[in-house]
Formats: sequence, structure tokens, C-alpha cells
Amino acid sequence: MDLLSKGKRKRFRRRKNKSLGPAFYKTKEWQEIRFKTLLRYGRKCMCCFATNIELHVDHIKPISKYPELVAELENMQVLCRDCNLGKLDKYEVDFRTEDAFEKTNPCNKMPNGSPKKAVT
Ligand SMILES: [Zn+2]
Repeated sequence: MDLLSKGKRKRFRRRKNKSLGPAFYKTKEWQEIRFKTLLRYGRKCMCCFATNIELHVDHIKPISKYPELVAELENMQVLCRDCNLGKLDKYEVDFRTEDAFEKTNPCNKMPNGSPKKAVT
């Protein structure tokens, strides 16, 4: 018996998460949402405030749990690559606090230059 040639054929069949696979990130719909989010919050990480870094548009509520929010602008925030990869779909942290919003908008400075506030 030739056991070797019979061997296990591994087929890496990945279960597609409905239509929300990586393909979604190539659609015009996503590109538009992504662009709108960057326009809205600025090109800065809303978690660590890094700039000049690879930025991701993050789903605050992960689409693995909330697939219906995949294209919902209100579910988006801007995170750098590291913050986004750290957050993954384990957290639902919304960094869009007023404080973060102020900081991501240079034209929106607080009148008396308030000191750093801890993001709660
Ligand atoms: Zn960051």
C-alpha cells in the first residue's frame, strides 16, 4: 500500500464570512467609507495620536460580531496599524471622545489650550 501518496490532502478551505471577506475592502463602497472617515477625523491615530504612520480605518464594533455595521460611517474610527492590530475584534473601544476629536482637528483647538486629558 502506498500510504504516502494517499496522504492527507490538506485543503485550506477558509470559511468565507458571508460577503465580508477581504474582498469587501476592495469595493468602492468601502473605499468611500474609508475616505470619508479619514476626512472626518483626520489622518492621525485616534488612540496614540501617531501621525506619518500607516493608518487603518477601524470598525469600532467588530464586523465579526456586528456584520450589519460593516458600512456604517458611525462605526468607524482612525487607528494606526499597531493600534488596530492590537485592538483586533476583541475590544469595542470607541476612541472618538471629544478630547480625541479636538486633537485630530488642528483647526478645532480648545480656546485656553487645555492640558492633556486622560482618555477614559
Ligand atoms: Zn495608534
